[in-house]
Amino acid sequence: MKFKPANSIQDLQYFGEFGGVNPSISDSSTYTFLSAKTMFDTFEGNADGCYLYSRHSSPSNLYLGEALAAMEGTETATVTASGMGAITPVLLQLCQSGDHIISSRTIYGGTYAFLKNFTPRLGIETSFVDITRLDIVEAAINSKTKVIYCESVSNPLLEVADIKSLAALAQKYDLQLVVDNTFSPLSISPAKLGANVVIHSLTKFINGSSDTVGGVVCGTQTFIDQLRNVNDGACMLLGATMDSLRASSILKNLRTLHIRMKTHSHNAMFLAKRFQEDGLKTVYPGLVTHPSHEIFTKMMNTEYGYGGMLTIDVGSIDNANALMELMQKQNLGYLAVSLGFYKTLFSAPGSSTSSEIPEEEQKEMGLSNGLIRFSIGLDNDIERTYQQMKACMKQLHLLPENQYF
Ligand SMILES: *Cc1c(COP(=O)(O)O)cnc(C)c1O
Repeated sequence: MKFKPANSIQDLQYFGEFGGVNPSISDSSTYTFLSAKTMFDTFEGNADGCYLYSRHSSPSNLYLGEALAAMEGTETATVTASGMGAITPVLLQLCQSGDHIISSRTIYGGTYAFLKNFTPRLGIETSFVDITRLDIVEAAINSKTKVIYCESVSNPLLEVADIKSLAALAQKYDLQLVVDNTFSPLSISPAKLGANVVIHSLTKFINGSSDTVGGVVCGTQTFIDQLRNVNDGACMLLGATMDSLRASSILKNLRTLHIRMKTHSHNAMFLAKRFQEDGLKTVYPGLVTHPSHEIFTKMMNTEYGYGGMLTIDVGSIDNANALMELMQKQNLGYLAVSLGFYKTLFSAPGSSTSSEIPEEEQKEMGLSNGLIRFSIGLDNDIERTYQQMKACMKQLHLLPENQYF
């Protein structure tokens, strides 16, 4: 039977201490033990269901983690203080000095900076490759390689990873396939396609209200236990712990994720089609012209669509800035980084979220200066939004028809 991620989330029921319809928030950093022996066993990792200290786990964090594990179809999950607080411990848990990582070259700027500038200090080297070229990925594997790292839909160029084929490659060479699924929650279920570890920045679509940062690692019980191990677990020791109050608030927002994703996708598809018809260089995985349209279609849980992210290229950074400022003035969205908000957000990745990537490399990967990344909002009347955005483009002479006539 086809995997239904939103059903899996909804089938979980948690009640509060007094029969509340939401679970009680655990307002404690530490927990009492009825016997000293149980405390000792818990430190040894042997006391199932006992809480020790909230950096290790807390009831609120476990509820949220279990809901996200249900969404991704993994055995379990652990939540973290941020998306980077999920990505960095996973890579440090899987790799040690002398090891090698193969990463997509189009990834979140923070992840890129971590792999490019930080992990080499620990003796961990990374090859950045075009993840859509399986032959290139395979050629980059060597005897030290431990991990293949990618985003299901990449930031900011919206390249789509063929997760099934990458998982087969990982299995063939005994590597771990780690997938950041932040851009495509519900739409793509990487673990179901063979990924070993699935990561999200909860800051984006999953929380959806731009009021917090958060992250999650979804994987096997064995791997999540390793991350939380008191003696050598990277999550436990690096300390990027989510606060219980936040966990409970993100869990409540997760309840509406399926409705939001459908609307984000519907609105993004609508705008992408119109922008393309207007002659703008538009990138959206839902367009048949997208180089990975077929791969996305094959992987996706159809009802959630192709996601809320699209890009257009308006030729230069000056054009991009002028258009973004005008659209913001017309209340069509905000000039801001991040994604997944009810309001449309736009930014020019070359000068913002991907600025960690040197200009030379930006050029090589096709990240042009005039690129605008949109996280399309939950606008009720997307036709009206389109007309207003088109008026902005006309005013600035950015539509091809203006340039010719
Ligand atoms: C934002 C983002 C991250 C980092 O998440 P934070 O919550 O900001 O730490 C990682 N990956 C992707 C794809 C992102 O968009």
